[in-house]
Amino acid sequence: MPDSKPQNSSESAETFAFQAETRQLLDIVIHSLYSNKEIFLRELISNASDALDRRRFEALTDKTLLSEDTQLRIRLETDTEARTLTLDDNGIGMNRQEVIDNIGTIAKSGTRELMDRLAKNPNPEATAELIGRFGVGFYSAFMVADRITLVTRRAGEEDATRWESTGDGTYSLDEGSLDHVGTRITLHLTEADPENGIEDFTDFHVLEEIVKKHSDFVAYPILAEEMREEPGAEILDADGKPIPGPTQSVAHEVTLNSRIPIWTRPSDEVTEEEYAEFYRHISHDWNPPLDTLSLRAEGRIEYRALLFLPKKAPFDLFYRDTQWGLRLYVKRVLIMENCDGLLPAYLRFVRGIVDSADLPLNISREMVQQDRHINQMRKWLTKKVLDHLGQIQREDEEKYLSLWKEFGRVLKEGLSMDQENQKRLLPILYFASSHDETKLTTLDGYLERMKEGQEEIFYLTGESRTAVESSPHLEAFREKGYEVLYLVDPVDEIVIQSVFEYEGKRFKSVGKGSVELGTEEEKKEAEENLAEKSKEFSDLMTRLQKLLEDTVKEVRLSTRLTTSPVCLVADENDMSPNLERLLRQSEGADIPVQKRILELNPEHDLLTKLQARFQADPVDPILEDYAQLLLAYGLIAEGSDLPNPAAYNKLVGKLMLQGL
Ligand code: ADP
Repeated sequence: MPDSKPQNSSESAETFAFQAETRQLLDIVIHSLYSNKEIFLRELISNASDALDRRRFEALTDKTLLSEDTQLRIRLETDTEARTLTLDDNGIGMNRQEVIDNIGTIAKSGTRELMDRLAKNPNPEATAELIGRFGVGFYSAFMVADRITLVTRRAGEEDATRWESTGDGTYSLDEGSLDHVGTRITLHLTEADPENGIEDFTDFHVLEEIVKKHSDFVAYPILAEEMREEPGAEILDADGKPIPGPTQSVAHEVTLNSRIPIWTRPSDEVTEEEYAEFYRHISHDWNPPLDTLSLRAEGRIEYRALLFLPKKAPFDLFYRDTQWGLRLYVKRVLIMENCDGLLPAYLRFVRGIVDSADLPLNISREMVQQDRHINQMRKWLTKKVLDHLGQIQREDEEKYLSLWKEFGRVLKEGLSMDQENQKRLLPILYFASSHDETKLTTLDGYLERMKEGQEEIFYLTGESRTAVESSPHLEAFREKGYEVLYLVDPVDEIVIQSVFEYEGKRFKSVGKGSVELGTEEEKKEAEENLAEKSKEFSDLMTRLQKLLEDTVKEVRLSTRLTTSPVCLVADENDMSPNLERLLRQSEGADIPVQKRILELNPEHDLLTKLQARFQADPVDPILEDYAQLLLAYGLIAEGSDLPNPAAYNKLVGKLMLQGL
């Protein structure tokens, strides 16, 4: 039990300490987080609704978990005198261990990370935003209660567990008793203080209003008792005539929510706030969505989809085993929570629901993978989402860029994953580029700025913008005014391999193969010049190549250098050094070192002087030292590691002495 440990035990109740991070977070939630305290109810109802879904799911395979005459529901009970509000659900419930795991900690895996970030950036906005990403649902009830008692019984089990806490750092666990499967949470409310957003949550009308506002679409009835003044049974007056008796308070059970699925309502009748509430309900994200997309497919198969683009990436977006997917409903009944067959993985950040009339109610996860309808839906939904992203980009680029910042890396995965949609994806991608130090560019932006006669889209991959920017490979491009895209995300190395061209222009790495820049005439001139120089330096090149034959496959003269003496390049079809490094870092990949090409700058003094030494004495031992130094220079310039830093240091030390 890593999260909490028993501190002491009385006869039956045990006291546990909250995990330290949970305690800190709890403190923030209670004291400073939300001015809108009423949202605690939406959180508890959302949890209850999830628990009811789960009971229904589990009962599909184990009928004993739910008898046919059980009405799944959430009930709100109040006691004005005792100032308590109780939420009673007959959902899946929890056993003792589940209570410890789920209620004893907040957002288990993310809490540590969250607290670290909060420590670095402790302003209230950042706090709210970060908590939004992790969710602290259940604990929000401590905003309005100074003690919470939870009694719960897991479906299929007999014993109930009682959990209680005053939110002060510890909680107690005991045996409890509950006459039904599910969870009963009693909030011992603090004083009502309407000016500070603490309404009287024992008041029926207050509850009714909050439920209508935040939880109207919940699929299960949310019941509460309304006391109505009604005339009593008839009595006889003095003359013996029947008259209505004195009015009495009579309790009526009412359903507070309409339960109308939000996606079945015409979208122009649904307010943004209603969509936001529904989004929060399904996503457990505290932020409203960035954008909402309501879709209706008609034709051979009919279905509706309500999709949301989140504002912020969840912390587990890149975790390997994070579950993702849309909620799948069949005729308004939820049948799968994370259906990953409805969108490709590179759109896993999209949240929402799909409701189809044509799928069997008992469709299983395995069937989803092969189902023809689902595949058609995925294709259609993917196109719709990509087109919609394009539309946001055209209509409100700033908004699109905020989405790009959060999800750009995921979207790029689509280039290799979904070649069919490359045409839709490429225009909505953004890249760092030599054109602007801070702003990103689209490919269309690049095409517009291309020089006359330029036939290729130049790019360079690397570890970071700084590393790429100072790379010698860019020298000639910079001098001649050619823009180069900087592909510095780890995914870029992989995805660029599956893209060949955009609008008829090929992608070309400036770190690979040979380069020819300028007009046809300039190219021809450069070629002739290079041929001449190559002849002149030919013997020196051969000598250097011999000296470096273990690590370098060719030594040649370069057209891409203007100020540096040397750089290393890869052959057109070889891996870039960055890709080699990335592959080597990822576990288990045994990548043989690739031999590269060493390119020298014929205009550099170093080369002319080296040539003079070589001509004076072709076996001068200094050539050997310089061969190694040139190689190291090229490696350092592109950000690669030196194979033998100690040997390099020795050489530099020797050189330093010569200079004195
Ligand atoms: P979240 O709902 O975002 O996971 P919460 O703190 O609200 O975070 O709840 C933590 C967990 O406690 C839930 O994921 C669920 O497993 C469990 N839980 C909360 N409320 C209930 C309930 N009414 N019935 C069953 N389990 C519940």
